Amino acid sequence: MFALDVKTILFMTTLMCAAMSVVMYAMHLSFRREVQGLGHWAAGLVLMVGSGMLFAALAVLPAWLVLPLGNLSLVCGIGMSMVGIRAFYGQPPGWRIFHAMWALNLASMAWWLFVQPSFAMRVAAFSFIVSVFYIDQLRQLWQRGERHFASWFFGALLAVQTMVVLTRGVAAMASGAQTVDLMRNSSLANVYLAVSNFMALLLTVGFLVLATRRLQRVLEKRSTHDPLTEVLNRRGFGEAYTRARARQRRGAGALALMAIDLDHFKAVNDQHGHAEGDRVLVKVATVIKRTLRENDSVARFGGEEFIVLLPDTSLPRAQQAAARIQGLLAEVERPCCTISIGIASQAAGDESLDSVLARADAALYRAKESGRNRVEIAALAAA
Ligand code: GH3
Ligand code: MG
Ligand code: MG
Repeated sequence: MFALDVKTILFMTTLMCAAMSVVMYAMHLSFRREVQGLGHWAAGLVLMVGSGMLFAALAVLPAWLVLPLGNLSLVCGIGMSMVGIRAFYGQPPGWRIFHAMWALNLASMAWWLFVQPSFAMRVAAFSFIVSVFYIDQLRQLWQRGERHFASWFFGALLAVQTMVVLTRGVAAMASGAQTVDLMRNSSLANVYLAVSNFMALLLTVGFLVLATRRLQRVLEKRSTHDPLTEVLNRRGFGEAYTRARARQRRGAGALALMAIDLDHFKAVNDQHGHAEGDRVLVKVATVIKRTLRENDSVARFGGEEFIVLLPDTSLPRAQQAAARIQGLLAEVERPCCTISIGIASQAAGDESLDSVLARADAALYRAKESGRNRVEIAALAAA
């Protein structure tokens, strides 16, 4: 067997927490737009490290100073991780809970330190207060977390930590003075500290896994979507089209492709400015998306033209969809615009994407020629 010195573990984990705070802060600097909450988490780690250093200074500083301050710093550190998780999920930061909890902690520390000294009650109060922060994080994760390994991993760590903290609080309350002696005289208190320090480290790793996953999603989306309207870009559309064609080869019906172009859009830009023109593009994209089914896709390759892909859709159904888009668009508040639509149907076969797009474009051109705000159907592909 090997012997582990608890003080050494404490020292090492505190040092690792300090290192991890640098990692989190660096990630925050690099990805503050893509992933929220990393900065809060880094600050939380700094507070926890500060608390560890305060407790270590118990040998030289008076207990009446170290105990309340060390606990305060620890509670605030754990509270910051709650604020970080809330930011991560785009939720309000929960500063009221944060402030209420550290104030409650300070008050209970003062009471059970100076008025009615009780180590057991201090442990119980601290445990219940920080469990509020852990439970809130679990709640956020449960309600908003993606069902993915990263969330399960972080959630499992949080659940274990919540249970450990609550058990310690209940044990302290239940066994009162005995626990006090046990905790003080044996190294049990130190073991607990080492374990909870280690958990702070593990939870940080868990959040890092969660943040990495988020970053991957954001970057993936960026490479396949148009930043202005958030519909697919050319690459994303290519992937959706390939998937639809594969389903078609396995027996699905014809694909319908719509080429949509805004009518007299240059005039919108000229009258209202380019920025307003951009907002009109976003409006149109939103209206198109609203009318689509789950398997349909919409893309913008730049400019003021949209391409819609309707898998397993007959021409009459595609015409209905086109009419629905035009109808909804007519209800949008000004400034907006009308659109012309060309629809092409693609049966299973060898025709390329370029060819079917060209047919849809030709139909669109006819719609423009015949007065705009219309739908035209493309000629079938040459056999
Ligand atoms: P038509 O009915 O024949 O389609 O007329 P139009 O004015 O819409 O057609 P045209 O192709 O002549 O002009 C398209 C305009 O769309 C020109 C360009 O300034 C504008 N445009 C293209 N991309 C964007 C964009 O991303 N944002 C904005 N605001 N305008 C854009
Ligand atoms: Mg146009
Ligand atoms: Mg155009």
